[in-house]
Amino acid sequence: MISKVFRAIIMGPPGSGKGTISSRIVRDFKLNHLSSGDLLRAQVRSQTAAGLKAKEYIERGALVPDRLMVDLILDELKGLSSTDWLLDGFPRTVEQAKALADDVAVDTVINLDVPFDVIVSRLEGRWVHAASGRVYNLEWNPPKEQGKDDVTGEPLTQRDDDRPETVLARLKAYQEMTTPVTDFFREMNLLEQFTGTESDKIWPHVHKFLSSKLPPTG
Ligand code: ATP
Ligand code: MG
Repeated sequence: MISKVFRAIIMGPPGSGKGTISSRIVRDFKLNHLSSGDLLRAQVRSQTAAGLKAKEYIERGALVPDRLMVDLILDELKGLSSTDWLLDGFPRTVEQAKALADDVAVDTVINLDVPFDVIVSRLEGRWVHAASGRVYNLEWNPPKEQGKDDVTGEPLTQRDDDRPETVLARLKAYQEMTTPVTDFFREMNLLEQFTGTESDKIWPHVHKFLSSKLPPTG
């Protein structure tokens, strides 16, 4: 039997549960997870030419220029040419989407659609232990002792970018930037939209959809 390679993209605003859904997809369908943010951070760490160029943009919270980003991703995907993959964080612009679509046959684009008010209240409840990166959520994963890290007992803090005004501004910016990208994939008949308020409720639909495209391995 000839088995075809499966190539998927996942999109969703910050706080939409993209990380949760992605990890379940790679767990159950054995896709190779490629995150543009992780890839960039690895390049910065190993001080490659691309990493050094990208660094100043990342530090400013700006998008890395399309040309640089596209070259990096396409190069990485060549190494994955015979594996199934799930691309996360790329494309972020129509230019990137076009360059990708010109180079590889994408099978599907999973778009997570979570209402903005749900995301805002979820992120409001998020507290972190800055030193370790441990994340708590007052609603469903509270620390044992209020305001303190379970392991070290040190105080928890809220990231500036988790404050409601900041979150809403970020969501609007995300929407403005990515609507042309989702439109682009919709026109190609590749966009699969999943609407919901919780990852646990969205997940079964994503699982069912992907099972119709490729056999689950777990
Ligand atoms: P979050 O982690 O909350 O989903 P983020 O903005 O930190 O959001 P990452 O994917 O970790 O997302 O990206 C970190 C940084 O890397 C971005 O701020 C940006 O500078 C750069 N970056 C990542 N992906 C792209 C891309 N497709 N195009 C341009 N720059 C990118
Ligand atoms: Mg990040």
